[in-house]
Amino acid sequence: MKRLKRDYYVGTKECREFNYDFKDDGGINLLMVSGGKDSSAMWLMAWESGLKNVLPINFDGGWEWPIARKAIIKLEKITGQKCLRLYPDRFFDESFRTKGWPRINCRWCTSTKRDTLQLVRNYIKERFRNRRVTEHIGIAWDERNRSGKGYISREKINLPLVKAKITERACLRICGRYGLNWDNYYMSFDRLLCWCCPLKNIGDWRELYISYPDLWEKIRMMDKIAPEGRKLIWANYSRDMLEERFEKEIKDKGKVFHQPGRRSKKRKKKKKRRRKNISEIKK
Ligand code: SF4
Repeated sequence: MKRLKRDYYVGTKECREFNYDFKDDGGINLLMVSGGKDSSAMWLMAWESGLKNVLPINFDGGWEWPIARKAIIKLEKITGQKCLRLYPDRFFDESFRTKGWPRINCRWCTSTKRDTLQLVRNYIKERFRNRRVTEHIGIAWDERNRSGKGYISREKINLPLVKAKITERACLRICGRYGLNWDNYYMSFDRLLCWCCPLKNIGDWRELYISYPDLWEKIRMMDKIAPEGRKLIWANYSRDMLEERFEKEIKDKGKVFHQPGRRSKKRKKKKKRRRKNISEIKK
């Protein structure tokens, strides 16, 4: 109970310090923004459509890619709307020392994020009691199966990209129109999760291993300090096993296996789609 009160204070303090500008009557629109392509496209669409009383909210536990933070700053400049940034009372690096790597069935990081957001949500609802508060979540049409999840199917949740059938590719196009390209991150990675998220897919792990040796070194260090039983595990692979796998793949294929022409048909197709997308953005 004591802890809840302290957290509540953290959440509300940030809200109080934030300069609200809900001049117009009517409902309040909270945009949940991660700094990735989908939520950024949602923010831009909301701004283009002239949606009123908009408050973009971002949660940063400390493991965000710098390009995600940069995208939010850029979006603030484009739209003229200030984003409310939320931080946990203990950053992920600190919690990691006792909790170790998040697992699919124990995502303490997601729980921290959810709880922090809930405090702010409650605060806003309380402060603007007589107004309808709608949350907008940027889930692209390709990922519409996520919309069946309990937390998303709540009342007063809006999924504008799913409603308008906006795909991930279209999101990149929308963002590209405003000069957002995340330093071509999406050319090689699928999703912009936390940089060390253990739940990323194997392709993103591989890309991290090959293209960001400094970050991989950090993962090694983190794995060393993670408590016993909470070491890095990805689909039954430990960190060592992942490294072995990637090294073997690199060795077997002579050069870095993800070079064009060395990809499997599926990966080739995906890469082609991305290239097309980027060239459309550049036009
Ligand atoms: S992206 Fe991964 S590490 Fe980051 S909060 Fe979500 S589950 Fe946790």
